[in-house]
Amino acid sequence: MEVLRPATLAEALEARSARPEAFPIAGGTDVMVAVNFDRLRPEAFLDLSRLDELRGWHEEDGEVVLGAGLTFARIERELASLPALAQAARSVGSPQIRARGTIGGNLATASPAGDALPALAAYEADVVLGSAARGERRVSLREFLLGPKRTSLEPDELVLAVRFRSPHGPGSFSKVGTRNAMVIAVASLCLQLDEDARAVRVAMGSVGPTVLRATEAEAFAARALAEAGAFDAAAAPVPAATLREFGQLAGAAARPIDDVRGTAAYRRHAVEVLARRALSWALEGRPAGRRAAG
Ligand SMILES: Cc1cc2nc3c(=O)[nH]c(=O)nc-3n(C[C@H](O)[C@H](O)[C@H](O)COP(=O)(O)OP(=O)(O)OC[C@H]3O[C@@H](n4cnc5c(N)ncnc54)[C@H](O)[C@@H]3O)c2cc1C
Repeated sequence: MEVLRPATLAEALEARSARPEAFPIAGGTDVMVAVNFDRLRPEAFLDLSRLDELRGWHEEDGEVVLGAGLTFARIERELASLPALAQAARSVGSPQIRARGTIGGNLATASPAGDALPALAAYEADVVLGSAARGERRVSLREFLLGPKRTSLEPDELVLAVRFRSPHGPGSFSKVGTRNAMVIAVASLCLQLDEDARAVRVAMGSVGPTVLRATEAEAFAARALAEAGAFDAAAAPVPAATLREFGQLAGAAARPIDDVRGTAAYRRHAVEVLARRALSWALEGRPAGRRAAG
């Protein structure tokens, strides 16, 4: 099998246009599973793993920019300032998978269970796509993820990066699986407090065709926290009934199915519990009097 090995991003984009039959491969942790199970036999591979332009991350114009080739191991190590994403990265596979697996591969695979996706949805991230003929375009995550394993990536495009404003406030990612490690999520949830916008963002994985936002739960929580004065004083208590209702609204936003990993009812219940816990953690995790002190 032929393997194209471009040395630069420009060469990779040219090759993507000129050789559409060459299948992009980054870390190979999804692709090689498909090859090993004989579900994929491309005529050629387009190896993206050597492209320095895709490998790193930086900040630009007030946004965090993560290159498509950034591995989960580096996210885990270097991006503790984005706890929800770092926690999601830490929950992916094993150290070996995290050393190879990339955020671009997670996006392009578009699995409903992709662990990076809930954090990126809660950060309201955009995906940057590039082609040799048309240059770069930027689409929202919602426009990029069309359904299970379906994206709006054009045949001559590559994922270049994902970018978002770094949220100001606590956040977390949690996932339920059939065991504690090396597991595909049966349900996952990211909750991110946005203290500047006085908003709560909730995104759920493995409970729908693609990552879902729980918008009613978000609006309910933002109202409840504002009424409790919780955006101004970390100590303001949020009643247990509020947490319960928040969890139920998150569960109601799920669109789960029964499959070998869990029933729809179990997944909905899991989301309710994860949402409730995530909101309590976010409130506990806020530095006392941060807003009140200005
Ligand atoms: C044992 C094991 C455990 C795993 N555990 C988890 C887990 O816990 N959570 C989880 O989310 N995933 C898990 N995965 C899946 C996989 O590791 C992730 O989806 C990972 O992010 C894939 O990245 P990659 O770089 O290896 O992608 P690859 O396998 O190289 O590619 C995946 C897909 O993305 C495309 N692609 C890659 N980069 C680009 C690009 N820049 N532009 C356009 N298309 C591109 C490829 O053509 C292919 O279609 C696991 C896999 C294995 C084998």
